[in-house]
Amino acid sequence: MDSETATTLAPITEIEALRDSVRGPVICPEDDAYDEARAIWNGAIDRRPRAIVRCTGAADVINAVRFGRERDLPVAVRSGGHGVGGHALCDGGLVIDLSPMKGIRVDPAARTARAEAGVLWGELDRETQLCGLATVGGIVTHTGIAGLTLGGGIGWLMRKYGATVDNLLSVDLVTAEGELVTASDHQNPDLFWGVRGGGGNFGVVTSFEYRLHAVGPTVLAGPIFHPLERAPEVLRFYREFIASAPDELTTIFNLRVAPPLPFLPEDVHGKPIVMVGACYAGPPEDGAQVVRPLKEFGTPIIDLLEPKPYLALQSMFDPSAQPGWHYYWKSVELPPLTDGAIDTLVEHAAALTSPKSYCIVFQLGGALSRVGADETAFSQREAAHNVNINAVWTEEDTEAERHIAWARGFFDAMQPHAGGRVYLNFLGDEGAERVRQAYGAQKYERLVELKRAYDPTNFFRLNQNIQPG
Ligand SMILES: Cc1cc2nc3c(=O)[nH]c(=O)nc-3n(C[C@H](O)[C@H](O)[C@H](O)COP(=O)(O)OP(=O)(O)OC[C@H]3O[C@@H](n4cnc5c(N)ncnc54)[C@H](O)[C@@H]3O)c2cc1C
Repeated sequence: MDSETATTLAPITEIEALRDSVRGPVICPEDDAYDEARAIWNGAIDRRPRAIVRCTGAADVINAVRFGRERDLPVAVRSGGHGVGGHALCDGGLVIDLSPMKGIRVDPAARTARAEAGVLWGELDRETQLCGLATVGGIVTHTGIAGLTLGGGIGWLMRKYGATVDNLLSVDLVTAEGELVTASDHQNPDLFWGVRGGGGNFGVVTSFEYRLHAVGPTVLAGPIFHPLERAPEVLRFYREFIASAPDELTTIFNLRVAPPLPFLPEDVHGKPIVMVGACYAGPPEDGAQVVRPLKEFGTPIIDLLEPKPYLALQSMFDPSAQPGWHYYWKSVELPPLTDGAIDTLVEHAAALTSPKSYCIVFQLGGALSRVGADETAFSQREAAHNVNINAVWTEEDTEAERHIAWARGFFDAMQPHAGGRVYLNFLGDEGAERVRQAYGAQKYERLVELKRAYDPTNFFRLNQNIQPG
């Protein structure tokens, strides 16, 4: 038994005290619900916490933090459970699980929404779309608002409205001391700067307040599929096309084997493809002019870039990132695409080892790039693209190492083309240097100062950790 496990087993007898101090259930290895409670999106993560506190509100979070702190337990914080590195779980310690906290209140007149930390993007979009509103969220409905927001937040609306953190108005947060505070431009502004990109380093956020925008309910959006063998010319065209795209248009491309999605013809399933997806955040009739060249280029297998409900766009790719599959990610950011970058992307995507693996490339820029570098901890203001190389397989697949090696080889090959930073939310459990890379040396030092002020003992360390020194 290692020393960490030994210390974390010590307080077994105190679990009852924890149960008495919270309203939500405390789930332990002996409980039937344990395996379900410790399952997160990445099925490759298999950790066995000593206790999982399913919080019902800020009071539970406060008592769980104080319990963990008084006993010096390793404490993980879980909301949507999508963090690929599995920091939402720990072996032997305490998990503060906010997933039961689902409250959402939309104020259509003020165009704001407040949502508790357990809310998922599909849940928030559903409520805001009732009023024809949305904020910048992720592109898969079952991702948590919490982790995504705290790391920055990119999605289909970002080039028009900025990163998710650029639309964050305030948070309620439980500090390492177990105090509930509000952070906004007016209250604890230093902390508010840090939570807008600094991940879970400064406390447990219990709720988020967002600015909303008029979106949809119908947007001109969706993917166009071409065979992968056409990808070199499709992506060279794409590069020219996006160079003059308005902020309303955000695009993403994906290199993979066509998954068996219901909207794809059966004879395409399993064939290597390049998918170029777009969303026009404005009146669909205006967008039609903008996307026409993209729709007219080449001979697509299928073109689904057409008016659809914003909610339909948001759930369109859910089936290709299913909870419980096994995942390993590597990520780089890119400046505008060069021929070399395009050819490397296509070459390595063509060599993928699992039919579920893929490489997804987000177009950044627009409003995202016009926020000052020092205004938020989030630091991807200058990059043109985020590349996420995703090795994906199932539990039965015995070739995990081969799939991981593919992702690593792909990542290494992209290095000559890569920009200086990496997107925090696409990091796995990759160590201190990669976290530092997400911010750059200067901003990392500012985050260290903030960490020293709010969490000098590094109580919140099971995360993309900023070490207080
Ligand atoms: C299928 C999929 C699609 C994705 N798509 C996008 C996308 O479109 N855009 C994008 O920007 N990102 C995207 N991501 C990345 C995503 O932003 C991160 O995985 C993020 O960490 C998920 O947050 P979560 O709450 O679901 O995860 P969790 O695993 O619960 O949280 C991740 C980490 O965040 C911290 N944390 C979580 N909740 C809190 C809290 N309440 N208070 C303090 N710290 C907390 C903890 O350190 C935790 O370990 C995607 C991820 C997946 C798996």
